[in-house]
Amino acid sequence: MSEKTKPTISEKEIKRLAEKSLTEAENFSEVEIIKKKYLEKGGLISQLFQQISQKRDLAQKKKLVAKVQEREKKSPEQDQKKDKLDIYREGKKVPLASLHPITQIIQKIYDIFLPLGYQVSESSEIETEEYNFNKLNMPPEHPARDMHDTFYLNVNLLLRTHTSNTQIRVMESNSNQELKVITAGKVYRRDEDDATHTHQFTQIEGFMVGRDISFSHLKGTLELVLKKLFGEDHPIRFRPSYFPFTEPSVEVDAQCLPCQGKGCNICKKTG
Ligand SMILES: [Zn+2]
Repeated sequence: MSEKTKPTISEKEIKRLAEKSLTEAENFSEVEIIKKKYLEKGGLISQLFQQISQKRDLAQKKKLVAKVQEREKKSPEQDQKKDKLDIYREGKKVPLASLHPITQIIQKIYDIFLPLGYQVSESSEIETEEYNFNKLNMPPEHPARDMHDTFYLNVNLLLRTHTSNTQIRVMESNSNQELKVITAGKVYRRDEDDATHTHQFTQIEGFMVGRDISFSHLKGTLELVLKKLFGEDHPIRFRPSYFPFTEPSVEVDAQCLPCQGKGCNICKKTG
């Protein structure tokens, strides 16, 4: 070890020095310098803490050595009796935590898409306007770009409003290639938080690029995912819908699990 050992300094000495310097200080900047000297990382106070822990370590080591020496003195029979190993004794139970429900559902959905040949790709939650909006054919006059919907960090950077930034980044770095990509992650929108709205939520998004890919591939994939998630016979419904950036567009509904289609507060009485 080539590290230099610092001269030790007592707690009383530090207190005396600090008090002396503070009395002699003539203005705030001098007080600030004293504050740095004593309180900052590597300052005298933290050195004192280091000394204390070194002393404690040394005391513990001494204790341990004494214990071992004591044991060595004892007779071997006594030792055997004490160290008898009971392999049938019940082990100590350690409570295990479980994965967050959102992580569990993301993994479940990835597990459905991976055997279909999809690759998982994830990208940043902080994004530029270019990748969150412009390159997705969402021009500046698009309603989602209104300041009320988006958390802007500065003029150009924002918290992504959807996971679609991943699409652009993956397509740009794999141009002219057939792609099957699935992504999931946190997205942010300026919303009043209540029972059904939150300023941050999780999106899962997949896309496919290739020759002869049609709308029926999308329908088949969505059907498969819903069946795997909710069960073979769970009622689902496709309905035409308008999205300003995809054409044609479709929305898919699954029957509400808690009320089994009867209508409840969770599904806003839609079943
Ligand atoms: Zn319901």
